[in-house]
Amino acid sequence: MGLLSEGSPLSWEETKALADHVREHGVNQFINLYHRLKDRQGDILKWGDEVEYIIVKFDDDQKVARVALRAQDLLAQLNEKELADPNGVKSLWRPEYGAYMIEGTPGKPFGGLMAHFNLVEANMRYRREEVTELLAKDECVMSITNFPRLGAPNFTYPLAQPRPEDPLSSARSLYFPDEAIFPGHPRFKTLTRNIRKRRGEKVSIKLKVFKDTKTKLPVEGAPPGEPDVVLLDAMGFGMGCCCLQLTFQACNITEARRLYDQLAPLCPIMLALTAASPIYRGYLTESDCRWNVISSSVDCRTEEERGLAPLDQQKFKIAKSRYDSIDSYLSPEGAKYNDVPLTYDEKVYQRLVEGGIDHLLAQHVAHLFIRDTVSLFSEKVHQNDNEDTDHFENIQSTNWQTMRFKPPPPNSSIGWRVEFRPCEAQISDFENAAIVCFVVLLTRVILSYQLNFLTPISKVDENMQTAQKRDACRKEKFWFRKSSKTTEQRAAKAQKQAQAQAQAQAQTNGKANLNGNGLANGNGNGSENGDQEEQQQPLTNGSAKMNGHGNGTTNGTTNGTNGSSNGSSNGADSDHTDTDDEENELFQLLSINEIFNGKPNVFPGLVPLIRSYLQSMEVDTDTHCTIEQYLRFIQKRAAGELITTATWMREQVLSHPDYKQDSVVSERINYDLLKRIQGIQEGKQVEPALLGQDYHSKTKTKDFIPPALQKQLAKNGCCEEK
Ligand code: ADP
Ligand code: MG
Ligand code: MG
Repeated sequence: MGLLSEGSPLSWEETKALADHVREHGVNQFINLYHRLKDRQGDILKWGDEVEYIIVKFDDDQKVARVALRAQDLLAQLNEKELADPNGVKSLWRPEYGAYMIEGTPGKPFGGLMAHFNLVEANMRYRREEVTELLAKDECVMSITNFPRLGAPNFTYPLAQPRPEDPLSSARSLYFPDEAIFPGHPRFKTLTRNIRKRRGEKVSIKLKVFKDTKTKLPVEGAPPGEPDVVLLDAMGFGMGCCCLQLTFQACNITEARRLYDQLAPLCPIMLALTAASPIYRGYLTESDCRWNVISSSVDCRTEEERGLAPLDQQKFKIAKSRYDSIDSYLSPEGAKYNDVPLTYDEKVYQRLVEGGIDHLLAQHVAHLFIRDTVSLFSEKVHQNDNEDTDHFENIQSTNWQTMRFKPPPPNSSIGWRVEFRPCEAQISDFENAAIVCFVVLLTRVILSYQLNFLTPISKVDENMQTAQKRDACRKEKFWFRKSSKTTEQRAAKAQKQAQAQAQAQAQTNGKANLNGNGLANGNGNGSENGDQEEQQQPLTNGSAKMNGHGNGTTNGTTNGTNGSSNGSSNGADSDHTDTDDEENELFQLLSINEIFNGKPNVFPGLVPLIRSYLQSMEVDTDTHCTIEQYLRFIQKRAAGELITTATWMREQVLSHPDYKQDSVVSERINYDLLKRIQGIQEGKQVEPALLGQDYHSKTKTKDFIPPALQKQLAKNGCCEEK
């Protein structure tokens, strides 16, 4: 998250009393910002990742690993450099929910050159080293999605005990002590307390235990009548998980809306591919991902809102937690796939429409505003709605969905952005960089090939649940849109080119190594020297190949209030007409392998589409090599040749000599698992099933752009400060 402003949080009673005030002004602020910024054009592609980390402390004598409650102290040191030189640092560090967590981002967003893809992994490595320098020998910074024994006895260092009976405790959890909540800013404890109070009881997170031959039932703490449930009772169990997010800037609001929509159906797909969290509170569970855990961990809906009691005090029954998959599309093409009734206050919606906001955006914002504020600071209550956006941001930033549509902040050079939020954090920088680069490349392919992934929201919701099942990446199938003829034609061309290339390669070196030749136009000479004079096209937003999209003249594409979309302002878009497909065949159940690697006559595959796109780009040899490593890794994981982190973790537990076939991840198993993870991230431990035979990342990532390319960058204006 962005830098947190200091302030004094109001009590829950005060906050609750101001809910309508925040709503009223938040909506006004959105209307005003929309009119100020809707015509903003021509922003270049910028993008950046966020990786969250857990600080682990090892006790090598006792063979115990714990989370180290050191975030506040580490952040004070990490932020010193930024304070001294805000524009010169290579990384930025922010607090996260856990007192054992930190979030790192690049110092500046990456830009629109292909060479930027080569910086990501090196920057992630730098971040890890930067933290490691501040740690004691027995501590380690890890990008693991969940600490396996989070909430199990004595999981923190220093030791802290939960105080469920203490009325002053924020969480009142049986398992998660308040000391494990980041103490350096009141936001986190305030949210914890207010979410619990709004709901009227502690949050309740239920996970089915993985039933092994000797699993003891009921599981410790299981709710009555649900003996096979691992029950978690605090916000920290979800918000204390780590994830991998990325944000990118679109050229204008229309492009941002389109990318938001096109990426939404890919969220469950990427969740399944990045699954990395099968263990909770020391138990193996049936789930591979954090999503439902985090969703339930901040579910502040009352019984009435959850449909468990008739509506009396509350206005609506609400289908989902404020942390969940998106509920509606924003682009005109997406409108017809909004098949799930959207809950919103008609008056709020009307105000937005009367304020000049089109139907799709108005319903999106009105839907965000069904939530009450759960954290309000006294200094922020009274605001100037023409300039400030804090009340809007208050609600926006506590609607934690798979995608986030981000308007430009007030008085900044930042444009309309979209955030991609489903991915789980991976163990190594290599994997995290691969995922980030893959998704950013996908956005470029979507724009230049006008790809269409739109799938009914109900099916995306279904996919979200499927994605979290044990080994979904290899075993499950997902609703996916069959591609149209035009996409197939493009793909066929791509496949032909790829085949020709493979043949050429086989002739030159007999093995599948694309270093320095292959995909890059213009420098396919096998040289591995990235310093030569190379010309790179910038990765543009608003590709010229797009019919009327993002061409600098369109804006706010939808109008009317009747729910029908007005596609004409976007021009005809061949891939957005389904006439050559039978409607009932349009959505098919595909495996992750088929989605990423292709299925004949159905879908060319995400990776082949990216490869085809790359052929039209000029890429320096090092970047090319790096991207190729990432794509291969993703292809192999999708094909099941490599396993997900979640599957690997399960295997580690099941094959541990101390494991007693009882689903329990003991202190010792946890310790050995984390030690092994430490070995992997440091490149000392080879895990063929997870990362292949190679010892460590073979990419050519570096933390600077070669001078020749820098000249190009300056010419393209990609280096301007944010
Ligand atoms: P959040 O509110 O989601 O935590 P942040 O403001 O911390 O988001 O930024 C998230 C990511 O966005 C970072 O990786 C950062 O580098 C990147 N970023 C910053 N400015 C821009 C921009 N103008 N366009 C795209 N991404 C940006
Ligand atoms: Mg964050
Ligand atoms: Mg974020």
